[in-house]
Amino acid sequence: MPTPKKKSSPQIKRARKIVSQKPLQKKFSTFSFTITHQESHTQARTGIISTPHGTIHTPAFIPVATQATIKALTPQQLNDIGFDAILCNTYHLYLRPGPDTVYKLGKLQKFMAWHKPVFTDSGGFQVFSLNDGLCQIDDDGVTFTSHIDQSKHRFTPEISMQIQQKLGADLIFAFDQCLDITADYNTTKASLNRTHAWAQRSLSAFNKLNKDQSQALYGIIQGGRFKELREESAKFISQLNFDAIGIGSIFGDPKEESKQLVEHALKFVPKEKTKHLLGIGAVEDLFTYVELGIDTFDCVLPTRLARVGYIFLRPESGGTLQNRYRCRITNATFKQDPSPLDKHCTCYVCKTFTKAYIRHLFKANELLFYTLTTYHNLAFFQRVMQEIRESIEQDSFLPLKKKWIK
Ligand SMILES: [Zn+2]
Repeated sequence: MPTPKKKSSPQIKRARKIVSQKPLQKKFSTFSFTITHQESHTQARTGIISTPHGTIHTPAFIPVATQATIKALTPQQLNDIGFDAILCNTYHLYLRPGPDTVYKLGKLQKFMAWHKPVFTDSGGFQVFSLNDGLCQIDDDGVTFTSHIDQSKHRFTPEISMQIQQKLGADLIFAFDQCLDITADYNTTKASLNRTHAWAQRSLSAFNKLNKDQSQALYGIIQGGRFKELREESAKFISQLNFDAIGIGSIFGDPKEESKQLVEHALKFVPKEKTKHLLGIGAVEDLFTYVELGIDTFDCVLPTRLARVGYIFLRPESGGTLQNRYRCRITNATFKQDPSPLDKHCTCYVCKTFTKAYIRHLFKANELLFYTLTTYHNLAFFQRVMQEIRESIEQDSFLPLKKKWIK
């Protein structure tokens, strides 16, 4: 027989206790973030994000699988490269094949045969960027036109949460309004107020939907290019009960201004929360933002550039800040080059194929070209992050950064 609990404490105290227990229960059930090492000279840290589909070792680069696929690679190849997680786009998967289809086929992991952690973004970025001024925003949500068949659709924070729940990613994002970084103060302020109201609505819809606690929700800090708005947003989002924090609409350029905005916002975010920088992934940016304490990044850069022939190069092989760590494999100079894409790269492509062969595939419009260049570029990013994690653990992040950024 269970013993009935004592009712000695005042009611109000009990109520508080129940409220404060809720988030703890949620964190320790399926999602957690643990800092495993704090670097001694910077804010950089290593950590582990735990999800129902496994763990992510941070700092981590998260490749973008827009339509539930990393273009030209199989999940097995991604696994071989060593990635812990990928990010899929809610906007694209909502339009095609639709969240109900993905749900019926066992949610994203089963649908795409990737059995490790998955992120989905909120759909906001694509709604605003692909509609280029054609979407209609009001305080409740946004009405937009499909880029596939021009049909009309509507996203609200509640709808974004419902779609992301059906898609079933482990780590999902609150619905926010993405704004052009050049927007003026008043426009940015109005947009930020809306983003904050949407953050509260996202959280409340999420809490109702996430009864089995299988997902974790990121709140997103916005605020355009204004330090005081970034601060206001960081404070507002941090006091809500989000599992983790994202920082949005940082486009990486101009570099110093972007860095200062992120650095300032991070002062108001609790250290123990894991932080994701949306859409950032230039090599030098990885170093800049890991140093400030960012844990995860997603970016289409390595995969998109691979498909047009840009190959990433390590510093030992001639990669520099000036050439942005890349060269173009399609150049005529490589026509008879018997060397690998990067002779200091240890990936399968560099161990197996020559520059001459890969350039030939490009010239002949062969599909294997996309696979080989994408594989190499992602292996390059994975290795950079691996080296960053090791350097943090050895308290030698700054010497590694110096080796890369001269
Ligand atoms: Zn390689």
